[in-house]
Amino acid sequence: MTQQKSIIRIDSAPPRHWVGDGFHVHSMFSYNQDAHLYSPFLMLDYGAPYHCEPRDVNNGATPRGVGSHPHRGFETVTIAYSGEVAHRDSSGGGGIIGEGDVQWMTAGSGLVHDEFHSPAFSQAGGVMHMVQLWVNLPAKDKMTKPGYQAITQAAIPQAILDVASTRAGSVRLIAGERGGVRGAATTFTPMNVWDVRIEAGKTISLPQPEGWTTLLLVQSGSVTVNGSKAAGAAQLVMLSRNGTDVDITASEDTQLLLLAGEPINEPVFGYGPFVMNTQAEIVQAFNDFNAGKFGQIAE
Ligand code: MN
Repeated sequence: MTQQKSIIRIDSAPPRHWVGDGFHVHSMFSYNQDAHLYSPFLMLDYGAPYHCEPRDVNNGATPRGVGSHPHRGFETVTIAYSGEVAHRDSSGGGGIIGEGDVQWMTAGSGLVHDEFHSPAFSQAGGVMHMVQLWVNLPAKDKMTKPGYQAITQAAIPQAILDVASTRAGSVRLIAGERGGVRGAATTFTPMNVWDVRIEAGKTISLPQPEGWTTLLLVQSGSVTVNGSKAAGAAQLVMLSRNGTDVDITASEDTQLLLLAGEPINEPVFGYGPFVMNTQAEIVQAFNDFNAGKFGQIAE
């Protein structure tokens, strides 16, 4: 027997803030508040589309972004919808992600990285539209070796969803599994990270496992979920862990990010860029970082 997940809440985006001078984001949730409700996810920054004026980086101007900073104990996932983001980190990872690409960085035991608009995008200007998601690691993997998955648009499996032989939408499997197809990213705990499009007037079914945290970030358009009140652009829908069915009806062409995952039932103790299980581990993270143990970005 299946059962619908119910709607726990629908939250509107808070005002935007700048991360460095490059990323103008709505912080949709963070581990500082109700961390257990969002587990295994720690934070979601939504960079809704915004126009960036060109910057003459070919002649010495600095690109917009965030300079060198550390992380430990979790993963940062950057999804580019428009614009280009360049990363470098002290484990040797890095690259440029553009439209449809994803960077899945495992900070693990610790690294230092920077995140800037790419030189080409800085020079040309244009629309930046991105998401940064922080994914927790279970205690046993928090000190894993740092890693980096550069996931191109072409490497992300896409399913076209038909209803009554007409196109109803599509799902790109960034991570997770649907209908026997595996998503592009390797994860430490079970989760689905799906980029979903739904055509106006269509309903699609995206069931999620019983017991999983289930969130929908509506980026554009408008939906009802399991007959709920409507959720529109820059709103986050939280569904119940119990139940499985998630039926989404779009009243206009819609793009949304589905995040679902098995909760990690462990204490979350974080401070800024470090997320561990205890205060002692956070003190250790600061000590290790200050002692230079997170390495340096190679110039
Ligand atoms: Mn970072």
